[in-house]
Amino acid sequence: MKCPFCKEEIADGAIKCKHCGSMLYQTEPQPMTQQVLVQQAPIWSSITSMVLGILALMTFLTEEWFTVDEAIGLAIISGLAIIFSAVALSQKQRGRGMAIAGLVTGILGALCALGIEF
Ligand SMILES: [Zn+2]
Repeated sequence: MKCPFCKEEIADGAIKCKHCGSMLYQTEPQPMTQQVLVQQAPIWSSITSMVLGILALMTFLTEEWFTVDEAIGLAIISGLAIIFSAVALSQKQRGRGMAIAGLVTGILGALCALGIEF
């Protein structure tokens, strides 16, 4: 192929003309801006963590006392809420507020369950 600037023969696929030094390919436009990435980020972990957190919250607020099974169930729900919120936050998923709500309620539920078990 020929350089479009100086018309000298250059290698096919060259990115820079060896004769005149012109860049032959413009840099690729960024396919995704940060804004687009944020908009397309998944939200399921945030929602899941908040739902599990609310579930844990309801469990330890409505029960006056727990059986060991209920405490284990609460610990599992709380643990999952914490895991999902950690995933949502580490992956920078949308719904950060929901993920934090899931994290806080998950920790509360876990502490509550541990306090009952021991
Ligand atoms: Zn050239």
